[in-house]
Amino acid sequence: MIRKIVTLPSSVLREKSVRIGHIDESIRQLAQDMIETTLDWDRKNEFGAALAAVQVGQKQKLTVVRNNFEDAEDDEFLTFVNPEIIQQSSHRVSDVEGCLSIPRYYARIPRSNKIKVKAETIDGEPIRLSLEGFAARVFQHEIDHMHGKLFLDYVRDPADLLFLGDDNQLHPVDVIPDDIQKFIDDRR
Ligand SMILES: [Zn+2]
Repeated sequence: MIRKIVTLPSSVLREKSVRIGHIDESIRQLAQDMIETTLDWDRKNEFGAALAAVQVGQKQKLTVVRNNFEDAEDDEFLTFVNPEIIQQSSHRVSDVEGCLSIPRYYARIPRSNKIKVKAETIDGEPIRLSLEGFAARVFQHEIDHMHGKLFLDYVRDPADLLFLGDDNQLHPVDVIPDDIQKFIDDRR
């Protein structure tokens, strides 16, 4: 079932997700729905790399992540329960990222280049992941969602905020729009 994606400025995006104790049928269904919802969202030149449960209004520590970030035709996803960063490099790199909950806006923000994540599979098996580059960025973004944090919170300079125009190109935003600025300010 395709679920509705919660978008800015909904305050749900500021809420913290809770740990999943027991993976039951409703959690498995939620994960499946999140995959369908992300695939449904994919449009030309935009690509859903992952989705956190809070983005469909379910405040639980659950994320679905694309198996292959390079190929939009590959519709395989991996599901992670209770993901947590246990180690991260102090070396950070800046790159452009977006969010299904913030349509058309992107930003160039710094993230740790390497992280180690502890999680459970949808079958409840504990796993550890060593991630680098874009995959590390995706997990930091999704785990941030579970703490009510968005990529916008890292934007310090309007020059780092970008808008996807009708020409499918990213354009600089001269002034941060009021609704986005207000949402960022609510954090502080
Ligand atoms: Zn997001």
